[in-house]
Amino acid sequence: MEAGRLVNTAATEEGLGSPAGGGLPETAAVPVEGGWLLNGRKTFVTLAPALWYFVVLARVEPPGGGPPEAVDFMVLRDDPGLRVDETWDALGMRASGSHDLVLENVRLPADRLLARRGERKAGHAGGVWFALGVAATTIGVATAARDYAVAFARERSPGGRGAIAAIPGVRRRVARIDLLLQRSRALVADAARAWEARGDAGAHAGMAPADRVAAAKVDALDNCIEAVDLAMRVVGGVSLQKRRPIERYYRDVRAGLHNPPLEDRALEQLAASALDGP
Ligand SMILES: Cc1cc2nc3c(=O)[nH]c(=O)nc-3n(C[C@H](O)[C@H](O)[C@H](O)COP(=O)(O)OP(=O)(O)OC[C@H]3O[C@@H](n4cnc5c(N)ncnc54)[C@H](O)[C@@H]3O)c2cc1C
Repeated sequence: MEAGRLVNTAATEEGLGSPAGGGLPETAAVPVEGGWLLNGRKTFVTLAPALWYFVVLARVEPPGGGPPEAVDFMVLRDDPGLRVDETWDALGMRASGSHDLVLENVRLPADRLLARRGERKAGHAGGVWFALGVAATTIGVATAARDYAVAFARERSPGGRGAIAAIPGVRRRVARIDLLLQRSRALVADAARAWEARGDAGAHAGMAPADRVAAAKVDALDNCIEAVDLAMRVVGGVSLQKRRPIERYYRDVRAGLHNPPLEDRALEQLAASALDGP
């Protein structure tokens, strides 16, 4: 890959929902002379207008029959038949450009087949990187909201009667925001450390590294959503004004909820470790 060229996964589809559910995409890859022919439409392709490399999940029917497989292919921006449809019009993360990717008779050489999804193990490195990246990004959004609320509380003096920073209810909310953010940062750092040391059985007692990653992502998301909500309450009515960045943080902080690992699957993973293991 060349430096400065961006890569992302184009896996989700309207009908499929999250590929983490194990369903098969409708986007099809058919074997042709010297390679593959791809047709389909992907949704939620973050940064689509700026990407060079698209890792496209497609269905492949085995030549000898049997169940279809989900397979990742590498598609390049200048492959004929690839098009970005600018459909992204969402509540939050509006600048992410998560548009649709359309593939119409895109011909790929044989070596663009990257991997069969069935070969992936649970808690694979890509999933860990993604979960912790989503959590860290969300902590960034919530920290920006916290900083805005703190600066606002120090300066805002309704009717000239003194800064709201002195009001006990405001102080309590700010303290709780810091508690939630500190907890989130600690969980993400702990999960990253445990994952890095996963080969060393003596390095971590208690929860397994992959479970710590799931726990950190789910808890950080909940903490950050609560923290931004509290920041909105500190700022008060003007927090709703479109011209203030805190309104955007309130919308953006939710987006990671809908990225893997989703809460129900993460909790099921923790439950399975506790209840189904040896
Ligand atoms: C800002 C943003 C950026 C994104 N960027 C990308 C990207 O770059 N590339 C990409 O491929 N995708 C991307 N996505 C898509 C994302 O990864 C999900 O595929 C998408 O949000 C749909 O997931 P879903 O769980 O809502 O869908 P669905 O699978 O339709 O699920 C709907 C609901 O049912 C629940 N559900 C479904 N199945 C189960 C189950 N088996 N057990 C428990 N609960 C279940 C889900 O938790 C959810 O609440 C992005 C999403 C967002 C919000």
